[in-house]
Formats: sequence, C-alpha cells, structure tokens
Amino acid sequence: MQQDIKKLTVIELQNILKGWGASVYHAKQVFNWIYKLGARDFSAMSDLSAGLRIRLEENFFILGSGIAEQQDSVDGTQKFLIRLHDASLIEAVVIPAEGRVTGCISSQVGCKYACTFCASGQSGLKRNLTSTEILEEILLLNSGKKITHIVFMGIGEPLDNYDEVLRAIRAINSPDGIGIGARRITISTCGVIPAIGKLAQEKLQIELSISLHAADDLIRSQIMPVNKKYPLKALMAACQDYIKKTDRQITFEYVLIKGLNSDLQSVKDLAKILKPLRLAKVNLIPSNPIKEMNVQPPGKLEVLYFKDYLIKQGIQVTLRKSRGQDIDAACGQLRLKYDKR
Ligand code: SF4
Repeated sequence: MQQDIKKLTVIELQNILKGWGASVYHAKQVFNWIYKLGARDFSAMSDLSAGLRIRLEENFFILGSGIAEQQDSVDGTQKFLIRLHDASLIEAVVIPAEGRVTGCISSQVGCKYACTFCASGQSGLKRNLTSTEILEEILLLNSGKKITHIVFMGIGEPLDNYDEVLRAIRAINSPDGIGIGARRITISTCGVIPAIGKLAQEKLQIELSISLHAADDLIRSQIMPVNKKYPLKALMAACQDYIKKTDRQITFEYVLIKGLNSDLQSVKDLAKILKPLRLAKVNLIPSNPIKEMNVQPPGKLEVLYFKDYLIKQGIQVTLRKSRGQDIDAACGQLRLKYDKR
C-alpha cells in the first residue's frame, strides 16, 4: 500500500533511498518538488531518474485530498472546499493583501464549540485533521498565488488538535518543508486556557490570536459557549501569563456585530480588560452579513467610534475589512451549503 510521503522527514526519506541503493541527495530534491515547486505526482520530478520516480510512485502518494469547489470573490479572496480522503469536507481561504498572501486553514472537521456566529460550529466535531492533511491544505492553496502567511482560523479549534497542529507548524516552518517563517504563522483560539499555558512553554516564535468578540461574560457566553468553561477573568490571566513567559504580543480578534457587541458599553468593557496587558493588539472586523444567522455589521460611524475609543485608551488597534462579501466567506458557510445540497 502506498504511504503518505509527507509523513517522512528528510532523514527518514534519505534512509529509504539508501536502502534502495539510490543517492540520499535525492531526498532533498523530492521535498523541494513537493513543498516548493508544488509537484502533485512523482512523474513531474524531472531531475530524478525514471526508475526512481516509478519506485517512489509505487510506494508513496503526495496528495490524498482535492478541491471539491472553489469560489472567487471580486476582491481577490478565494474560498476552497476541500474533500479529504474519507470524503470529509473542510474549508480553506486565500486572502491576498498588500505584500502578502494569507492562507486561512482548518484544523478539524467541524468544531465542538458551537459559537453562534459560526457555521462550522453548528454540526459539531467530526474528527481532528492529521498534520499531513493540514499540510495538504497549504499545498492545494499554493497552486495559485504563493502563500506567504498562514492563519489557523478556518474550521476547528487548533488548540484542541494540539499535537497535529504543532507537527504541521514545524513542517510549514522547516526550510526542507514549506519554509514559511514562524512569525508568519498564527494560531487562533477561542480561549482554551490549558492549551494556551502549554503553548507558552513551546518556545515557538509563532503568533497567538484570541477570538474575543465580547468583553462581557454574559454576552460572550451567549455567542461563545466556551466562555462558560473559561470565563474572561481566567482567560485574561492566561493571556497575562503567556505574555510574561513568551514576551510576545497577543492579537485579539473582535468581530463587530450590530446590536450585540459594538456599543459604548462594549468598547468600555474591552478597553478595561485589555489595558492591563503589556503586549496586546485588537483586530476589529465588521462582520460579514450572514442571512441564515441574522448577523449584520454595525454602521461605519459606530465602527470608527469604537476604534477611536480604543486608540484614546492607548490600545493598539487595526481596523480590518471583512473580505469576500460576495462569496460564502464566513467560516463554515460553504461547507454547510454543500452539505445541505
Ligand atoms: S468560531 Fe472557531 S471555535 Fe467557534 S465554533 Fe467556529 S470554528 Fe469553532
């Protein structure tokens, strides 16, 4: 049976090649073809002998998943529905912006956290992705524009699939693998406190982002049930601790939803919990309108007031545009639609 070649390290492949009587030098060439040049099968590896290509083909495969559907937005955002080897569906998004191309990738099939604004959380968790399935997402996305940044903000809670996500990150970061710098890789969590503590010990240079979306326990628990288990006071203490141990900034994602978390009291609450953090930044994102979930963004003035209030409190803020409004850009929307069909 063919094995997934992405499970191997360069050294492991070198040992296999040695056993076949081939030069170990070819291991790096094979990795280069897969991770840098985007080869989908061994026959494309033109600097290897025909015999070696056939032997590799007989023993290994490169991709076990493929693109089931693609949506292209007028703003350049591309959303992909990916079908895994067992027919499970996940989503990944390519977001081009000035000087960078971000790949937003999934870490699980479904999600158990059931955030009310998120289509991915509506049908529960099916399974974790393996590290090689995570790598495949990037290889599939890389076939168009070259991905320069990775964010684990697609379907699933990455810190609930801790070991596989970290294994994937090491391969994404490795010069023999995809070769994306650690500082260009972001893990986004809904606030799984024990895993944040564990991540702080890893000595990785990756970015951490917290999906906050409300600074009041009642509102946050209403839209993110995880808050009942890990309420704001404990979450902020975990963030304090993370910053102290890593000396790295945490980004707080705050999607502004009309009538829910965008009024004066909400911004006051937000400023109050973030001010004590030495290294914190807020990404404000007016929500995409999601008809099925009755979600609408607030008006422009409300958004600007919210932003200015935080700036006046000395908090670093970036106002992001919601992208791909003409496609099913909100997490899980495309998969939900496809499942219904
Ligand atoms: S927002 Fe993230 S944590 Fe919440 S349900 Fe969706 S995928 Fe899960």
